[in-house]
Amino acid sequence: MELSLPIATTPRTIKPPVDPATLAHRDLVGGDFWRAIPAYKDVDEATFLDHRWQSKHSIVKPERLLEAIRDLASPGFIADAERGFHAAPMSIRVSPYILSLIDWSRPYEDALRRQFIPLGSRLLPDHPKLDLDSLHEQEDSPTPGLTHRYPDKALFLALDTCPVYCRFCTRSYAVGSDTDQVEKVSLKANSQRWEAVFEYVASRPELEDIVISGGDSYNLREDQITMIGERLLSLPNIRRMRFATKGPAVMPMKILTDDAWFRALVGVVDHGRRLHKDVMLHTHFNHANELTAISQRAMNRLTEAGVHVRNQSVLLRGVNDAVPAMTMLIKRMSYLNVHAYYVYQHDLVKGVEDLRTTVATTIELEKQVRGLTAGFNTPTFVVDAPGGGGKRDVHSFEHYNRETGVSVYRSPNVNREQFYCYFDPIDALPAAGQARWADANEHAAIVDEALTAAKMQRR
Ligand SMILES: *Cc1c(COP(=O)(O)O)cnc(C)c1O
Ligand code: SF4
Repeated sequence: MELSLPIATTPRTIKPPVDPATLAHRDLVGGDFWRAIPAYKDVDEATFLDHRWQSKHSIVKPERLLEAIRDLASPGFIADAERGFHAAPMSIRVSPYILSLIDWSRPYEDALRRQFIPLGSRLLPDHPKLDLDSLHEQEDSPTPGLTHRYPDKALFLALDTCPVYCRFCTRSYAVGSDTDQVEKVSLKANSQRWEAVFEYVASRPELEDIVISGGDSYNLREDQITMIGERLLSLPNIRRMRFATKGPAVMPMKILTDDAWFRALVGVVDHGRRLHKDVMLHTHFNHANELTAISQRAMNRLTEAGVHVRNQSVLLRGVNDAVPAMTMLIKRMSYLNVHAYYVYQHDLVKGVEDLRTTVATTIELEKQVRGLTAGFNTPTFVVDAPGGGGKRDVHSFEHYNRETGVSVYRSPNVNREQFYCYFDPIDALPAAGQARWADANEHAAIVDEALTAAKMQRR
């Protein structure tokens, strides 16, 4: 029998034509979008792209912010924000880039507004199990600003300032200036403190991987990037480093116009490559609206220079906890060569219960997201287990009670014996669970039940 193959026909159609809506992640906001903000209406592109202009015009006082948005939002919204700032335990800092990307026709719903501008009307009581340093970073700290929790990697908090201040910051115990509500631990950029860190890292041969964070690496001067980078590269035990910064999400123009900083970073990455060591940038996008045509230019410049970028998002209610928002974020990041690495369950932080979600939400989100795109662009959804357990895959709990919202994790590489509890926000629980938490006498029993069930599971 002769097998005849058709020649040069069109391929068989096995899928219907693509719905253009699924390609919306490629539509990046461009042009001079910032001119819609009255205060920036005369700002030309060269000025808006100047990182010094962005820093200088970042808003650090609630009164200034309220003033800047007076013509954009209703008096009711402004009064609400005023009450929000009064109660907020975080310092505030918002870049013109972020302010321009907020949709001021819908400020209550807007995903960027939610991250940076608190509203009195949205405040919820803190969870009764919340304590301030919920990650216990200070407990695993052999010297100020270094957390050595895992066997081969450590977290170096080089400084305590950021290009913006996020409402939901996990490090609100250290980051930003003192506010009415919180007195911070001091972690200034200080070479004496850093020397003690380098000395410790050199003394621990098991350490191979250092995360340089803060605060935020964007706020390190170029000579500090070089100094920290070279000191760590010179240690034979160190094989991997990451500079962590929210910068690309809130001020991408620095990558384009702060040549000295950019060259310092690329210098460390290049030197690392010649030493066969891996130096990367880790950033923190939470919503697709943070990625614009300016971000694309910044990412292109990093890609051309051989700097790889990974992303760690925080799961935030009303920002990225719905499937369409998370899908769009992951696809847009992938499109610009930003690898989605982690999505964190929101830590227990003061004053931001309105932003936390339940573990059940995260599990469903993960299910909906996996398979969407390449595995290396698919984030792992993690809980940073309160009490110092470190990051755990959200699915790996020993026990999870969806009614009381208590999940229990183990973390054998941190502590073989310990059990760690995470607590869902109470307002998102079923009515029966909310009723139990409403009775303070029940709290100990709720936790004991969960721990007992987890221990049964282990046997
Ligand atoms: C997150 C973190 C790290 C890095 O962990 P990876 O899972 O490798 O990204 C290291 N040390 C501490 C204390 C951390 O919180
Ligand atoms: S940039 Fe990072 S460290 Fe700084 S306030 Fe935001 S979440 Fe916290």
